[in-house]
Amino acid sequence: MLRCCNEAGIPVTAAGGRSGVCGGAVPVFGGVSLDCCGLEGVQEAHRATSLVDVRAGTFGDDLEQELRSVHGITIGHWPQSVALATIGGSIACRGAGQYSTRYGKIEDMVAGLEVVLADGTVVHTGQLAGRGAGPRSAMGPDLTSVFVGSEGTLGVITSARLRAHPVATEERRAAWAFPSFAEGLEVLRRTLQRGATPAVLRLYDATESKRSFDGLDTNVLIALDEGDGFIVEATMAVLSQECRSAEPLDAGLVEHWFSHRNDMSVLESVIRAGIVVDTIEIAAPWDALAAIYEAALTALQATAGIIAASAHQSHAYLDGACLYFTFAGLGPDPGDDAWAEAFYRHCWQTVLDATLVNGGSISHHHGIGLVRGPYLPAALGAGFEVLKKLKTALDPRGILNPGKLGLPSPFGASPWPAG
Ligand SMILES: Cc1cc2nc3c(=O)[nH]c(=O)nc-3n(C[C@H](O)[C@H](O)[C@H](O)COP(=O)(O)OP(=O)(O)OC[C@H]3O[C@@H](n4cnc5c(N)ncnc54)[C@H](O)[C@@H]3O)c2cc1C
Repeated sequence: MLRCCNEAGIPVTAAGGRSGVCGGAVPVFGGVSLDCCGLEGVQEAHRATSLVDVRAGTFGDDLEQELRSVHGITIGHWPQSVALATIGGSIACRGAGQYSTRYGKIEDMVAGLEVVLADGTVVHTGQLAGRGAGPRSAMGPDLTSVFVGSEGTLGVITSARLRAHPVATEERRAAWAFPSFAEGLEVLRRTLQRGATPAVLRLYDATESKRSFDGLDTNVLIALDEGDGFIVEATMAVLSQECRSAEPLDAGLVEHWFSHRNDMSVLESVIRAGIVVDTIEIAAPWDALAAIYEAALTALQATAGIIAASAHQSHAYLDGACLYFTFAGLGPDPGDDAWAEAFYRHCWQTVLDATLVNGGSISHHHGIGLVRGPYLPAALGAGFEVLKKLKTALDPRGILNPGKLGLPSPFGASPWPAG
């Protein structure tokens, strides 16, 4: 199919669960919308090697269900959209699950890929590359990384080899309150830099804590770890020690988060009321997070029509973390689309400007798609020219997902230019 479309110069936009939130799967220049969901199922699971081969259209919850019940293993990739997103879509967007501090982000889980290029050539990378594929290699640059995060612009992912772990035998939960968001971030930095990686570490600012935890007027940290009992014990001991000056809260807050985390009903009623609402996730080094948080929220709060602006820290690493902003606004006339678009664009610009000025990356896990396209050249600098050359080399006729990643397209200008 790709070979035919390439010869005829017809755009092809790969689609998985269509849960992407940046417009990545929208076929903006028509052509073929390539639904990959039929490529489903686990091909092989090897408990001894901790590797799983899975077809790209498999949904995350189906994969976990089979691995856990049949093989006693888990990938540990639990995005909030686990039942809406395919493995191929998660890899294409460089997604993150909510247990990422223990199991890693999707790029840490992918050991190899099968990809079909624009001209129909089938490529195997990493541990799927054939003979000689080991757990790590030094065989030139890592070709798997070229396709992870490529959002359907460089090839169509048909299968992946993923790293797996034994299903956890122990789980521990805890929660604390901090007088300020910055103090909470500092505790997370120290914890991660001591080598403790609790699966879930989520720090909510006071606005989000009030909204998410029945009016709690403080900065709430919830933590959960799972795995081998000795490791969980040590991990939670390090975190508790770092939290010694914070106020301990009822660990039942973790259960509260757990049972509400996939509940989208409030969002639907907000949108029905004509409120413009969206989320923006970014990532930054530890020493830039507090400045980005302050700058982005100050600018959002000064925006005409804003009714809510808040953030939480959702994924933490040795060298930094992800901040997840939420904004909502209402114009004088809820049906005024021009107002809604101007407000929406302004909020995005505000948060991404604050991120870039302070040295952060403009997306942590949702990807670029359409909405961040205008910002990618500035974010990558000279690297964007390398991306353009890769695109030209792998897809010379530009048929793969044209209009995305801010890349030039032979089919016309992006329908979401900078504004
Ligand atoms: C309620 C909700 C919660 C969410 N929570 C999270 C979260 O916790 N973590 C997270 O990371 N994301 C989250 N997302 C975003 C979304 O689920 C992810 O971006 C997901 O990875 C998209 O997968 P998909 O199968 O739906 O892909 P699609 O939306 O169908 O496609 C997304 C992009 O990937 C490309 N693509 C899809 N399949 C392939 C393929 N086989 N080969 C090549 N390119 C392909 C498409 O062309 C497009 O550019 C959430 C979304 C929603 C709606």
